[in-house]
Amino acid sequence: MARLARTAGLTDVQSEILSTVRSFVDKEIIPRAQELEHDDAYPTDIVEGMKEMGLFGLTVPEEYGGLGESLLTYALVVEEIARGWMSVSGVINTHFIVAHMIARHGTEQQKRHYLPRMATGEIRGAFSMSEPDLGSDVAAIKTRATRDGDDYVIDGTKMWLTNGGTSTLIALLVRTEEGADKPHQNLTTFLLDKPAGFGEVLPGLTIPGKIDKMGYKGVDTTEAVFDGFRIGADQVLGGMPGQGFPTMMDGIEVGRVNVAARACGIAIRAFELAVTYAQQRRTFGKPIAHHQAIAFKLAEMATKVEAAHLMMVNAARLKDDGHRSDVEAGMAKLIASEYCAEVTQEAFRIHGGYGYSKEYEIERLMREAPFLLIGEGTSEIQKTIISRGLLRDYRA
Ligand SMILES: Cc1cc2nc3c(=O)[nH]c(=O)nc-3n(C[C@H](O)[C@H](O)[C@H](O)COP(=O)(O)OP(=O)(O)OC[C@H]3O[C@@H](n4cnc5c(N)ncnc54)[C@H](O)[C@@H]3O)c2cc1C
Repeated sequence: MARLARTAGLTDVQSEILSTVRSFVDKEIIPRAQELEHDDAYPTDIVEGMKEMGLFGLTVPEEYGGLGESLLTYALVVEEIARGWMSVSGVINTHFIVAHMIARHGTEQQKRHYLPRMATGEIRGAFSMSEPDLGSDVAAIKTRATRDGDDYVIDGTKMWLTNGGTSTLIALLVRTEEGADKPHQNLTTFLLDKPAGFGEVLPGLTIPGKIDKMGYKGVDTTEAVFDGFRIGADQVLGGMPGQGFPTMMDGIEVGRVNVAARACGIAIRAFELAVTYAQQRRTFGKPIAHHQAIAFKLAEMATKVEAAHLMMVNAARLKDDGHRSDVEAGMAKLIASEYCAEVTQEAFRIHGGYGYSKEYEIERLMREAPFLLIGEGTSEIQKTIISRGLLRDYRA
């Protein structure tokens, strides 16, 4: 982009990766996004292109076959991809979170087994916390794994698995009885291998089909139904039952920066569409951009794009530097998703009646932006995290 959302202090390698991804987005994603999205079609060729560029292994450590890049590099790549089509960033997002959790919390054997094939995109990850009765209240998870010899037996229903059908590995958070007092200390993450597809994909595991969504199309979002599903005890992430909550929250924290980056990408695209349209559309004898009311909208939209980008970059850099960043990641996710919804809405208004036509890209962005207010924790949950952190640090 010409001026907005630039990032100071990038290395040559980071700049090169971003320039490659940007030209891929301009050539391969933007021209095809509308049609694929309206058809709710999986972007198979685009995913193959991302595999070839090594994007599935972008943050996987080099010793396990990845590029070993930082969270910042990843977030900037995601921002570029979401500028083209948010669903494509959804294909790599859950994969990235699962790879991060294995790299940080897996046993050496789990790292050696999964990460090299995750880096190539041969194994593709999804993560599953939410259930039909809960999303924000993770500690209330009901799906249960009961120990039986060397196995656990899982029963229950999971909801909203992004990439639930196309993935071949699910990081699954379920209840195990560890005898701890607090509910979240009785949760365990399993690494569940499965074939891609729908129906009863393994004995006791059914992926019923795609949930029909308002936007975020193309990428599959599913339920997962467990009925006496058996999994080996060696598939517990890190070999540590009862540690599922903190390991999953670590994954969600990087996921929040990633959602902020997706929101930035959509907001940038909405601004680009609006600023172009405002100079082409004429009313009362001049381009609408020359009416102050529209020019001021553009000024406010650009300011929001810039603010969201800077906070997203700050949160990514803090995490990369090893600092605690729950508050900053929450702030970045909160502001980027709220601003994204506002900027997209203003771009829609600038398009007048045409914004309501499916021929115009802004129609799609209007359906995509609301998801970012919900995914990886709603705005209310971000405010809960931020305020808790502030009260911890500013204790009177
Ligand atoms: C398209 C899509 C993809 C998704 N992908 C995944 C995935 O891959 N894996 C996964 O595990 N989950 C996924 N989710 C689930 C998502 O994380 C949850 O929808 C989200 O966390 C909100 O949970 P909920 O829908 O149960 O809402 P609820 O928790 O029921 O919340 C309902 C409302 O109440 C508010 N609220 C709840 N608690 C409080 C509180 N304490 N204080 C104030 N307000 C509160 C919320 O902010 C919200 O406005 C996905 C969801 C969607 C829509």
